Amino acid sequence: MHSATAVCLAAPRGPVEVRRLDIADPGPGELRVRIEACGICHSDVMITGLEKLPLTPLILGHEGIGIVEALGEGVTQAAIGDRVGITYFGAGCGQCHACQSGHARYCAKQSNHGYTRHGALTTQAIVAAQNIIRVPSNLNPAEAAPLCCAGWTAMGALNEANVQPGQWLVIAGFGGLGHLAAAYAKARGVHVAVIDTNQDKLDFAKAQGADLVTLPDAARKTIQKEAGGAHAAIVFTASAAAAPTALSTLQRRGSLILVGLTTDTFPVSMTEIVLKGIRIQGSYLGTRQDLEQVFAIAAEGKVKPHITTHTLAEAPSLIQKLSRGEQTGRAVVKL
Ligand SMILES: [Zn+2]
Ligand SMILES: [Zn+2]
Repeated sequence: MHSATAVCLAAPRGPVEVRRLDIADPGPGELRVRIEACGICHSDVMITGLEKLPLTPLILGHEGIGIVEALGEGVTQAAIGDRVGITYFGAGCGQCHACQSGHARYCAKQSNHGYTRHGALTTQAIVAAQNIIRVPSNLNPAEAAPLCCAGWTAMGALNEANVQPGQWLVIAGFGGLGHLAAAYAKARGVHVAVIDTNQDKLDFAKAQGADLVTLPDAARKTIQKEAGGAHAAIVFTASAAAAPTALSTLQRRGSLILVGLTTDTFPVSMTEIVLKGIRIQGSYLGTRQDLEQVFAIAAEGKVKPHITTHTLAEAPSLIQKLSRGEQTGRAVVKL
C-alpha cells in the first residue's frame, strides 16, 4: 500500500479537492507510475459536471507523464524506470471488432483514466498498461503531457482528414487541439486556414504560421476564393454552429471531420452533401500509431504545445477557470 496526494472529484457534480489517500498495488495488466506532470483537459471539466459517475471519489486527469515504479502481473508494455504517457483510453475488451481492427478507442467496453478508473492528477497513479506509451527521456514532461490527449486527438483527426502536401486544411477552433493540429499539418506541407470566433486566437494562429485566418461570417467566401475550397475541414470547437460553417468551406469531394463534443445538433443540406460528394466523419482520440507519431515528432523538437505550469494544489481552481473559458494554452500540473 502506498499513499498519494491526488486531485479528487468527491461526488458527482461534487467539489474537486486535493486529498491524501491510499493506493493499492498494481493488479494484473496495471502499472504504478510516479507522475511528473499532468495536463488539464476539457473532458475533466465535462466529467466534473456529470450527474452519475461509475467511481467516487474519483482521481481526475488523463494527460499524465511519469516514471514506472511497479508492474502488475503480465505487463509487457513497459519496464520499471521507463518514462511513459497515460491517456484517456485505459483498455479495450480485446474481443470486439473495434479492438481487433486497431480501433480499440471505439470499444463499447473500454475503461477510461480519470473517468471509469482513477486518473493521473496525482503524485502516484495505478493505470492500465494496455495503451501506455513510452515517452522519450529528452522531452520536458510538462510539454509532453498535453500530447497524451490534445496532441493525440489532433493527430488522429489530421490522419482521418488525409490531406496531402500542397492541399488545404481548415481548422475550426484554435484552442488546445487546433493549434497542435495546425502545427502537425504545416510540418507536412499542408496549407492551413483557421476559423475562430475570437480575434485574439486568429492573431495567435497567424503568428503560429497559419496561411489564412478568418472569422466564421467571412469563412466560406474567403476560403472558397483564396484557396479554391478546402480538401478537408476539422471541427475542434464544441460549438455545433461551427460545423455548417466548416462544411461551406469544402471543395467537391471534401471531408468534414468532427472532433469537438456537444449534445447540440446542426442542420445538413442533403443536396449539398450528395451532389458535392462530401464525406462527414467523427474522430475520437486516435490509433496507437497516431500516438507514437505524436511523440516521435515531439522528440525531433518540431512541435511544442503552448502551456502554463502549476502546482497540484492549483488544480481545482484551474478546472473552474477552464470551465469559464478563461484558460489560454494548456494548463499543466508539475509534480
Ligand atoms: Zn482529454
Ligand atoms: Zn473491445
